[in-house]
Amino acid sequence: MPQNIPSGSPLLPDFTNTQTAFAYKSNGELFQSYWLFKLINSPALVKISTTLAGAVLKWHLPLTPFIKYTIYRQFCSGETLQDSLPVINRLDKYGVKSLLDYGVEAKEDEPDFDRTIEQLLRSITFSKNLSAIPAISTKVTGFARFALLEKVSSGATLNPAEQAEWERVWERLHKLCRIAQDARISIYFDAEESWIQPAIDELVNTMMQQYNQQFPVAFTTLQMYRHDRLAFLQQLTQTARQKNFTAAVKLVRGAYMEKERTRAAQMGYPSPIQPDKAASDRDFNLALQFCIENINQVAVCNASHNEQSATLLCKLMLQHGIPPTHPNVWFAQLYGMGDHLSFNLAKQGYNTAKYLPYGPVREVIPYLIRRSEENTSVSGQMSRELALLLQEKKRRK
Ligand SMILES: Cc1cc2nc3c(=O)[nH]c(=O)nc-3n(C[C@H](O)[C@H](O)[C@H](O)COP(=O)(O)OP(=O)(O)OC[C@H]3O[C@@H](n4cnc5c(N)ncnc54)[C@H](O)[C@@H]3O)c2cc1C
Repeated sequence: MPQNIPSGSPLLPDFTNTQTAFAYKSNGELFQSYWLFKLINSPALVKISTTLAGAVLKWHLPLTPFIKYTIYRQFCSGETLQDSLPVINRLDKYGVKSLLDYGVEAKEDEPDFDRTIEQLLRSITFSKNLSAIPAISTKVTGFARFALLEKVSSGATLNPAEQAEWERVWERLHKLCRIAQDARISIYFDAEESWIQPAIDELVNTMMQQYNQQFPVAFTTLQMYRHDRLAFLQQLTQTARQKNFTAAVKLVRGAYMEKERTRAAQMGYPSPIQPDKAASDRDFNLALQFCIENINQVAVCNASHNEQSATLLCKLMLQHGIPPTHPNVWFAQLYGMGDHLSFNLAKQGYNTAKYLPYGPVREVIPYLIRRSEENTSVSGQMSRELALLLQEKKRRK
């Protein structure tokens, strides 16, 4: 790990600079974000609001305008691509790019899968001539049935109908990657539950081999809270070197820790998750180091709100003489969070992007529920966001 670059070096971003972090927000917007995070910070209020949001979905309660002007506005860019343009342009003004994320959750039937693909194709076409959008993101469960992915992952033999369904998943994926390749847009495929991930890995690794020759079209996601992912990264890079393609990886710590541990305990198999947070952090940081040491073969996106990992990646780049603008290194945060990282990194010239969920309010509600629940479970995250907003509120007075 790099030792010779002091933390206060002028070459490193200053993540305590809230003036830069929130320059894109008016006083009114800053005030609104502050109050929203104050509410999300309270587990009791999160419980009430998520129950209410669930009820909006179930009973069709007419509360979508309320959601739209509060939590939706904080975490989503708009109901359509066109609606999202003001946010995209505003971020771009500060050097922060957008990763379009059609915020619709897992689907279960073929017409829905086809609609997801149509929407993804529309977002690729939309992004094609916009330098503010280098990539889009999606979940494979948006266009493949969860139970099918689980069966493929288990290694069980598919019946003829399932085999045909599996082939349709491959066709959808090839179509997406072909069009993304022509448009020079990357696709970031999310990592999901470990019991469907082998099928996702098979699909995305194949796409990387086929489409990542000239430019990294397909990015896989590695959850470093899994104890097997560092070895997976090393193996993938070796294959990429042998077969001459770019191993494109988005590194995350992982979002399903409790679910993974509970399932493993209930079903009596060893948990795929690291024993503790320090082990997840260690592997995340080792993966960053490995990517930088193999930058000619690897494209990496550090998708995290963790300051230490962002600083480490900047230091590794400096140490290896890799310029901030190197096309193979990206930083990403979720829209509505981690502004102190995104805007300070972009100011120093690092490739930085926000995950920008968009879509109809009702469709995005499950994403928003997850966001507020996750925010209370990732320890320290909310209080950090709140403290930064408060610091900037005071500074502007
Ligand atoms: C742009 C972006 C894209 C993302 N895409 C995905 C995705 O495709 N798939 C996905 O699963 N997640 C995804 N996430 C969520 C991510 O996995 C993390 O849950 C979240 O970002 C918090 O991790 P952190 O690195 O930001 O922060 P930190 O606060 O440093 O880390 C919190 C994380 O550490 C890990 N952790 C906490 N406690 C323990 C413990 N006791 N033992 C082991 N590990 C522990 C957990 O993963 C937890 O989420 C994404 C996040 C971002 C910012």
